[in-house]
Amino acid sequence: MAERGKAHVVVIGGGVIGASSAYFLRKAGYRVTLLEKDKFGSGCSHGNCGLVCPSDALPLASPGAVWSTFKTLFKRHNPLYIKPRFSPRLWLWLAKFALRCNERHMLQAAAARMPLLESSLQLYQDLIQAEQIECEWQKNGLLYVYKDQTAMDAYQATDDLLTRHFSLPAKRLDACALFELEPAVADGIAGAWYYEEDAHLRPDRLMSEWKRILLQYDVDVREDSQAIRFKRQGFKAIGVLTREGVIEADQFVLAVGAITPKWEKEIGADLPIQPGKGYSLTFPKPEYSPRIPMIFPQHRVVMTPMQSGYRLGSTMEFSGYDTTINRRRIELLKRGAEPYLRTPYGEHVEEEWYGWRPMIYHGIPIIDKSPRMENVLVATGHNMLGLSMGPATGKLVSEVISGEPTHIPSKPYQLLHP
Ligand SMILES: Cc1cc2nc3c(=O)[nH]c(=O)nc-3n(C[C@H](O)[C@H](O)[C@H](O)COP(=O)(O)OP(=O)(O)OC[C@H]3O[C@@H](n4cnc5c(N)ncnc54)[C@H](O)[C@@H]3O)c2cc1C
Repeated sequence: MAERGKAHVVVIGGGVIGASSAYFLRKAGYRVTLLEKDKFGSGCSHGNCGLVCPSDALPLASPGAVWSTFKTLFKRHNPLYIKPRFSPRLWLWLAKFALRCNERHMLQAAAARMPLLESSLQLYQDLIQAEQIECEWQKNGLLYVYKDQTAMDAYQATDDLLTRHFSLPAKRLDACALFELEPAVADGIAGAWYYEEDAHLRPDRLMSEWKRILLQYDVDVREDSQAIRFKRQGFKAIGVLTREGVIEADQFVLAVGAITPKWEKEIGADLPIQPGKGYSLTFPKPEYSPRIPMIFPQHRVVMTPMQSGYRLGSTMEFSGYDTTINRRRIELLKRGAEPYLRTPYGEHVEEEWYGWRPMIYHGIPIIDKSPRMENVLVATGHNMLGLSMGPATGKLVSEVISGEPTHIPSKPYQLLHP
């Protein structure tokens, strides 16, 4: 491995974004220290649904989203829940989100997300081979399954749009074709749209493999090590303060996911991120386990069949940094899967989990330098697709820090958006 004059980079955050950044930086020859305040991989990257899905390129902020959000606002039994509370920051976020709910902004965001998604899908395949990563990777595609014919037909417009703008066509499957492909689906399903190129993996396995690989390449992975603030000199950071003292370095990457807003003052920029809480339930495989992961858009639930288990996940809750598990909301996952599958879940729950997605209102990640410290790069705001965008984000982080030509354009991920 080339040693880049032993320049030292500190990566803050041991999620999928921090891990990928540390990997590509190390590969580029930097000496790398990674700080994680808890256990490596224990944040939002741990129990997510594991989909690597370019098909999900369209952001949440889309035409009609305001009305459908409004209709369900404050309803506890709905997959989307906004806890009523006084939070000017949240209301500003929602207002900015609402202003983006039009076709022009939706397509702009999708165009920015697409290169990260497509590049990551390829990079995962390369990395899994090169580093012998055992994360239950399967490239079986992804099914968007509909109960009602009207909702199934309505997706045609999205399919047309994704085909026209991003050459991303889905295969339309009627009930018979779907049943032939996936006999585990229940009776009475209208059909599905099939994206054959998507993939999935087991996120916690991926994170333990990232740790193994980083350690193998001599990355200094420090767990239970919280970064508190930067030590500055002029327009540069010269170190990061932790409880164990200051760690000096030449460059810094802030990849702390949903916690990013707490660094706003330090970074010197608006970091409009809200924690978007989601839940997952992991089971042993049920009797009739599907082979292909499924999204049930009408119930907003995801089902992921992994090699060593089976996961139901999703829901979106804006309740701040709330650490409780809401039983009623977690039950929604089971209820949401029931209409679609013959055995919608396994016999017992192996893991009940929640995570805070780093939700940015426009849906475009931030991968950019701090305006206050030229050697601090922020990588965050991956919303519901951080796993799907991890490797390309890490590669871009490394390229920007190295000052090399970037493998995808870096401009869409700049800090300030109109
Ligand atoms: C239910 C659910 C399902 C999902 N399904 C999918 C999916 O199928 N596909 C997909 O692509 N995405 C999915 N996501 C989204 C994905 O999980 C996130 O986008 C992604 O994990 C974000 O990664 P991250 O590294 O930015 O954040 P995290 O994984 O949260 O990592 C940030 C880390 O920084 C650490 N940290 C914070 N502050 C400090 C500090 N001061 N010092 C040191 N460390 C610190 C935290 O402890 C944490 O470990 C899902 C999310 C949820 C909740």
